[in-house]
Amino acid sequence: MKRRDLSFKPELESIISKCEICNLAMVDEDGSPYVLPMNFGYKDDYIYFHSAQTGKKIDILKKNKRVCISFSTDHDLKWVNKEVACSWSMRYRSVLAFGNVEFVDDYDQKEEALRIFMKNYADIDFSFNEPAVKDILIFRVKIEKLDGRALGY
Ligand SMILES: Cc1cc2nc3c(=O)[nH]c(=O)nc-3n(C[C@H](O)[C@H](O)[C@H](O)COP(=O)(O)OP(=O)(O)OC[C@H]3O[C@@H](n4cnc5c(N)ncnc54)[C@H](O)[C@@H]3O)c2cc1C
Repeated sequence: MKRRDLSFKPELESIISKCEICNLAMVDEDGSPYVLPMNFGYKDDYIYFHSAQTGKKIDILKKNKRVCISFSTDHDLKWVNKEVACSWSMRYRSVLAFGNVEFVDDYDQKEEALRIFMKNYADIDFSFNEPAVKDILIFRVKIEKLDGRALGY
């Protein structure tokens, strides 16, 4: 099956836009990896996240802002001979994004981030309730580098 490394930005962005979730990889103080499935929004080279104010990921991200985020879509299991394990493979398209986390504190920017976030899931023009916006923690990642790969496409 043919593997392609992808670098055409609209193609990379179209992979991100097809994903419902991503996996956010962090590294804690003692060098241990920590990866979480997360919902997200994407606009203009930023990936947006929302979260509770506390928890292990926030403890890590406050100390180490460096992250890698993976996205994958178009999963399609194929085989040449069903009885031969080595002839099985999965077609896919995937992207890795690298960057640093920035916490978003400004109220208007948080609301805008939530709009971008919700656009990934619903084509509705939501309005947000002030206490909820204040309560939620928003962070975003400015993408410094995007790598893409497709197998079988
Ligand atoms: C499809 C999907 C979408 C999600 N979207 C979001 C989102 O948009 N925002 C958000 O904040 N969270 C989201 N979550 C939950 C997220 O994966 C974390 O569970 C959550 O953010 C809490 O992380 P924490 O580090 O604060 O965990 P804590 O509450 O501090 O707990 C840490 C402990 O729980 C374990 N743990 C934490 N999360 C998970 C998990 N998902 N699976 C198994 N073990 C776990 C850790 O290994 C650690 O031992 C999503 C989960 C899924 C499956």
